[in-house]
Amino acid sequence: MSNVTSTLTMQKAYFATGTTKDISFRKQALIKLRKAIQKNEKEIIAALHQDLNKSETEAFTTEIGILYSEIDFNLKHIDGWAKKKKVKTAVTHAGSSSYIYPEPYGVALIIAPWNYPFHLAIAPLIGAIAAGNCAVIKPSELTPATSSLLNQLIAKNFAEEYITVIEGAVETSQSLLAENFNYIFFTGSVPVGKIVMEAAAKHLTPVTLELGGKSPAIVDKDANLTLAAKRIAWGKFTNAGQTCVAPDYLYVHSDIKASFLSALKQEIQTMYGEHPIENKDFVKIVNEKHFDRLSPFLANGDTILGGKKDRQQLKIEPTLLTNINWEDPVMKDEIFGPILPILEYQNIEEVISGIQNHPNPLAFYFFSENDRLAEKMIEEVSFGGGCINDTLYHLASPYLPFGGIGNSGMGAYHGKESFLTFSHQKSLLKQTTKFDIPFRYPHVKNGLKLMKRFLK
Ligand code: NAD
Repeated sequence: MSNVTSTLTMQKAYFATGTTKDISFRKQALIKLRKAIQKNEKEIIAALHQDLNKSETEAFTTEIGILYSEIDFNLKHIDGWAKKKKVKTAVTHAGSSSYIYPEPYGVALIIAPWNYPFHLAIAPLIGAIAAGNCAVIKPSELTPATSSLLNQLIAKNFAEEYITVIEGAVETSQSLLAENFNYIFFTGSVPVGKIVMEAAAKHLTPVTLELGGKSPAIVDKDANLTLAAKRIAWGKFTNAGQTCVAPDYLYVHSDIKASFLSALKQEIQTMYGEHPIENKDFVKIVNEKHFDRLSPFLANGDTILGGKKDRQQLKIEPTLLTNINWEDPVMKDEIFGPILPILEYQNIEEVISGIQNHPNPLAFYFFSENDRLAEKMIEEVSFGGGCINDTLYHLASPYLPFGGIGNSGMGAYHGKESFLTFSHQKSLLKQTTKFDIPFRYPHVKNGLKLMKRFLK
């Protein structure tokens, strides 16, 4: 039996004991996880620095603090979420009562990417624990320091039969995917998402796919330009653009283009300085392969800010490109780096059709003081989630389900949605034995007539 098979067998046996279904057990596990993260904050920050050159502030806000609030939210609400719920009963079902019992799936496989390697491994785990599952986490091999730390942290705090980390690259991921897990939660790229779904189909395993894509930010002529510039600069260049919901490209109304771009340049320089490559807190590109994938984009259109790179440090300056159209290579796939191409528009219909002619974005950002126009955009454009007059912030709210549509993914999580994602909603009808309405039975006189009256 391979290592992977024996881990799964062990976890399935443990799940079958029912231990993980106990609500106080789930709460204890969440508290333990919170304490383990707290105790290891320094080590987590150091690992993220080693893997991606994340600063302490960026590591804390985007990878650690967000997990504390997610755990606390779960602890506050888990009793209510996990309870069986009484629901209405139809008149056709007189005498009976109806319930929904949330039930854990069993053993969940969580496959994580490298861009927020700690956060995106633990956030789904919180939902898996709260819903009463066992879990196997496969971190990304491209961020080895974080992967190894995750392994140690989980091994030190949880029994292997309950939660474990299996480190490795594509082959490990594929041998995990060959197994019969009860749920697969995948965060990563669109092509690998398809591989995951194909593998899941073999066992009819339900999946959540948190994927990526090209997310637009649109700056309309009525926007508050200073705030739009600040929030776009922050959303795009946090983690050097290696964020699934980062604005991938900009659409800017031609009437305000010059003043907006000057504000945007100003904000980027305020945040990262005149020489971002020398800024010790500016995040690096994860590896040479991604650095070499991004570098040719610097030659697209006209560079109005940035454009410099340093392969030794794996750093690329925040770069703004104008004179761009959909035929440029930078507009073909998700950029996932600190390069922001800018398209210009006069008529909002051009923007709508430009977005609609491409796969559904994961995120969508519209900057305008015109509420009617904002509503029109929300109604006409299909996307995973987004903000009016901001970037990224929707992702951090436990009240908003986070997920994609079409090519940007399926399913969602965060807050209650994570609990629902990792639970099956078991429907139950409790029938009375005090009486028995007869007309469903085949031999009853006028049965069909009565049935028609009821079901009309
Ligand atoms: P990736 O798809 O290359 O890798 C993700 C995981 O899948 C890793 O653990 C990797 O080991 C594994 N993997 C890679 N190739 C595989 C294969 N052939 N078979 C089985 N498993 C395989 O993604 P990535 O480069 O780590 O992450 C970047 C992508 O993730 C971007 O597209 C980004 O938009 C997306 N992303 C999405 C979200 C979200 O929440 N929607 C969050 C972060 C990143």
